[in-house]
Amino acid sequence: MEKYPGLCNQDIALRVYSSRLIGRESSLVLHGGGNTSVKTTLQDDLGDQVKVLCVKGSGWDLATLDVPGLPAVRLDSFAALRGRDRLSDEAMVNAARTRLLDSRAPNPSVEALLHAFLPHRFIDHSHADSILSLVDQEHAEVICKRIYGDRLAIVPYVMPGFELAKLAARCHENHPRASGLLLLQHGLFTYGETARSSYELHIEMVSLAEQYIASKKGALRGASSRRVVESPPPRYEHFAPVLRGALRSGLVFDLRTSALIRAFVDDPELGRLAGQGPATPDHVIRTKSRPLILGLLDDKEALDGAEGWVSQIHDAVREYHRDYECYFSRQVMDRGLERVALDPDPRVVLVPGLGLIGLGPDPQSARTAADLYEHTISVIVDAEAVGSYRPLPESDLFDMEYWPLEQAKLGTKSHRALEGQVVLITGAGSGIGEATARLFSTHGACLCLVDIDGQKVASVAESLDCPWEAVDLCDSSALHRSVDRCVCHYGGLDGVVSNAGRAPQSAMDQCPQALFDQSLQINLIAHQELAASASRVMKRQGKGGFLLFNASKAAFNPGPNFGPYAVAKAGLVALMKQYALEGGAAGIRSNAVNADRVQTGLLPREMLEARARARGLKTEDYFRANLLSVRVRAEDVAGAFLHLALAPSTTGGVLTVDGGNIAASPR
Ligand code: ZN
Repeated sequence: MEKYPGLCNQDIALRVYSSRLIGRESSLVLHGGGNTSVKTTLQDDLGDQVKVLCVKGSGWDLATLDVPGLPAVRLDSFAALRGRDRLSDEAMVNAARTRLLDSRAPNPSVEALLHAFLPHRFIDHSHADSILSLVDQEHAEVICKRIYGDRLAIVPYVMPGFELAKLAARCHENHPRASGLLLLQHGLFTYGETARSSYELHIEMVSLAEQYIASKKGALRGASSRRVVESPPPRYEHFAPVLRGALRSGLVFDLRTSALIRAFVDDPELGRLAGQGPATPDHVIRTKSRPLILGLLDDKEALDGAEGWVSQIHDAVREYHRDYECYFSRQVMDRGLERVALDPDPRVVLVPGLGLIGLGPDPQSARTAADLYEHTISVIVDAEAVGSYRPLPESDLFDMEYWPLEQAKLGTKSHRALEGQVVLITGAGSGIGEATARLFSTHGACLCLVDIDGQKVASVAESLDCPWEAVDLCDSSALHRSVDRCVCHYGGLDGVVSNAGRAPQSAMDQCPQALFDQSLQINLIAHQELAASASRVMKRQGKGGFLLFNASKAAFNPGPNFGPYAVAKAGLVALMKQYALEGGAAGIRSNAVNADRVQTGLLPREMLEARARARGLKTEDYFRANLLSVRVRAEDVAGAFLHLALAPSTTGGVLTVDGGNIAASPR
């Protein structure tokens, strides 16, 4: 309370506490779903005690709710809006904002008026899975009456907003002794004089629903049938890029498999079960109203070299796009609406024999879609045990999907240049690789980081919230595996920054064979292995991509006693050109950065002194010995990689980042 002087009192502190209890239970609410409120008194800027409604603010999650997430609205005049016949959504948002005690507070929930029109002090609202299994039924009212009697008043489905708020208040007044409201095809409200009583009622109602479902499931045990999936689907790392390439927008994947998911996707009735719509309208903006169901994909064909399943995936995605576009035009034309169509790509894909894939423009959105659909599966399975799953019809889902107040939840984040693009970076634990990872991450790239030093790369990856792997460039199969893992993590691959290297020194006529071999392996062969693996994935995806190599000025201007390194790097430039030549037709761009004298881990102190001596320079002058007399930073090289990643018409090029070194300029 002390942390928020003037904004908090005991009621609000308790409201925060029990809201978090609800928010932390994923079977009650998920990803910002549900909302809670308390009616209390706070002091305004004149020093007067005013009655306020503190209700969850948009953009807050119940699991992590805090005082600023419960904006305080002046209650009396807000509740007086009930006297109006009509109130548009914009007017409703405006009405809430103009009554806030704190102008910096977030917008109160779109269900704020419902909280205001009910008289109770504490109100809890969730979209609990078990409740949805009951309210998404053709005979929901009969079933709910059987379980709850008069303890919950039933509210027919109306979209959230002014109209629902009025209807809910009327339903409460017609059932003044009820402890809460059951909103058909939507969720549960409970209320009470204390935070505890409202919370406990909520849990009791949810438990009653669970018990009822369990009793019905017990009776059904053994009756469920499963489709026999004779041949497993193609290996995920093979078919995910094909699916990703068939989509219109740049999306990343989140694959889920579990016994429950497998049983669902292998159910012979999958088409009927999954084809009806989301469990609560709140989900539609994250999952779209229907998942894409891929038929059985036969891996045998892939092994035979036939591409049957590739065209099968493309056909299925095309059909999904067509259906989505028809749904959109049907709704806008039939009802004379003006809306801008969203992208027609699915957000959930179901694959018999494998599981479910959540899709999104970034990993968090993909995770959210997968989480929501995992719970949708439980809701559908339980609903089918009780009766038959019957969510909202298409027109109501459309209203929700294209409701400006819901769209706002998708965020106003401006599109970043590498948003939704998957990039693998080697040598990402420090120096140029780390700087590149950080820069690419700020531009929205979904990264997989690789380095020989597991500890270092783990700490970079942790700070960027992305997967990592410790890989020795001398181990070719580990390199290939790292590409596969990246594909399994995100569903595909759009770019590689082949950066890692090592700089051995020796005069050529004194060079031990093993040292020369090692330099070739690390500075040339490993780059080829990685580029080959990555370009095969990119071709399967069919959306182009980029290969970026860290060449060195040594490729053009060899230094004394640096032969083993210079020869390998010269080969690397040739490798880059070869990929530009062979990848162009597939839209794969291949470029290199030619950096020099960047102070990184590649040059330890002793070697630095030796290099400076070899060039006849003092150590302190070594880094500034260039035309611009500047110190080249790892960030400058990262900037060059970013530029090349985004240069749509550049391939086969070398970009110099060395402060100016005419002897090393490419020719
Ligand atoms: Zn709701």
